[in-house]
Amino acid sequence: MEIYLDNAATTKPHDFIVNKISQFTMLNYANSSSTHRMGMKSNFEIIKSREIIANSINSSNDEIYFTSGATESDNWAIKGIANANSDKGKHIITSKIEHNAILDTCKYLEKNGYDITYLNVDSNGVIKLEELESAIRKDTILISIMFANNEVGSIQPIKEIGEIARKHDIIFHTDATQGYCKYDINVKSLNINALSASSHKIHGLKGAGFLYVDKNTKIDKFMHGGHQEYNMRGGTHNTASIIAMGYAVDYYLKNSDKIRTKEASLRDYLIDRLKSSIANIRINASEKKRLNNNVSFTIKNIDSTKILIALDMRGIYASGGSACNSGIVKNSHVLQAMNLDNDEYNGAIRMSVSIHNTFEELDKVVDIIKSIV
Ligand code: PLP
Repeated sequence: MEIYLDNAATTKPHDFIVNKISQFTMLNYANSSSTHRMGMKSNFEIIKSREIIANSINSSNDEIYFTSGATESDNWAIKGIANANSDKGKHIITSKIEHNAILDTCKYLEKNGYDITYLNVDSNGVIKLEELESAIRKDTILISIMFANNEVGSIQPIKEIGEIARKHDIIFHTDATQGYCKYDINVKSLNINALSASSHKIHGLKGAGFLYVDKNTKIDKFMHGGHQEYNMRGGTHNTASIIAMGYAVDYYLKNSDKIRTKEASLRDYLIDRLKSSIANIRINASEKKRLNNNVSFTIKNIDSTKILIALDMRGIYASGGSACNSGIVKNSHVLQAMNLDNDEYNGAIRMSVSIHNTFEELDKVVDIIKSIV
C-alpha cells in the first residue's frame, strides 16, 4: 500500500502530460533557439506555454520569464530587484515564515549592505498589516511576502499588502509557489509587481517555474550569456518542462472548480477525522482559512519525527513541518515564529492532498496514526 500525502513538496505529473511530453521530446528535440523548422516548432510550443501562463495571472506575455523553479524565481526576484533599485534605498521587508529561497537570499543581501526587516506572524501564521505599514521607511525598495505558507498553509492578506505597497510606491513580490492555480491571482488588480511559481506543485514536471515581473519594475538580469527570455535569463530552454507547465496550468484552470472543491473537501475531511479520532491534537494555523490542500497538525507530547517514520514504514508519505535532513526534522522556523513549538508540542506533521487522493485513503491514514499514537 502506498498513500501519497506530500503534494506540497511535489505532485504526481498528470499521465497525459508525461505521454504528450515524451512523444514531443522524441520527435522534436531541436533547440528552441534554432531557426530551422524543428527549432521553430519547439519555440512555438514555448510561446503557447508563455501565453497560457500570462493569461492565468492577467499579465502580458513579455512579463513572464521561465526559470528552473521557484527557488530560482525567488533568488532572481530578490537579488535582481534589490540590485536594480539600490540607488533608491537598501531596505527590504519580508516575513519570518518565508521559504528558505527567500530567507537565505535575504541573509545573503544583508552581508552585502542591505537591511532586512522580518515581520512577525500571529498564531495563525499571518502577518499583521499595521506592523508592515510601520516597518516601511524612506529607503524601503521591496516588500516580499509569500502568498501562502508551505508548512502550515496560512494565506496572507495579499490584496491589502498590494494596496499598502502601491500607496508607498514600493515594489511588491510574492512567492506564490503554494497558491498558484489553487486560487485566482490577478496580478494587476492585486498590485503584484513580481510573482514566483513552480510547475511541479501543480502536476507538471520538475525543472520549470516562472517569474512574473511587471514592465515598470526594474530588475537585473539573472544570467548573462544568451538572448533567451528577453535577454534576461540566458541558456537553452528546458523545452519539455516548460511546455509541460503550460499543459498543467491549462488543465488546472479549465478544471479549477472541480479540483479546488475536491481538495478542500479532502482537507476538511482529514481535519475532522483527525480531531475526532486523536486526543490532544492541534491543527496548526486556522482550520478554514488555509490552503485547500494543506493539513498541518501536532500531537501533544509526541515527537512528530517518530510518527513520520512509522507512517513511512507503512507506505504513507507525508512530511514534517519543515525541511527533512537525513530523516531528522529540524526545528521549524515557521512554527517558532507562530509561537507553536515547545517541549510539549514537538514539530508538526504536514499532510498535503491532491485530486488523486481519496476519502478511503484518509480513513486508513487516520486509523494508522491512531494506532501509532
Ligand atoms: N517557495 C515555496 C513557498 C515553496 O513551497 C517551495 C517548494 O517547496 C519553493 C519556494 C521552492 O520551489 P522549487 O522546488 O520549484 O524550487
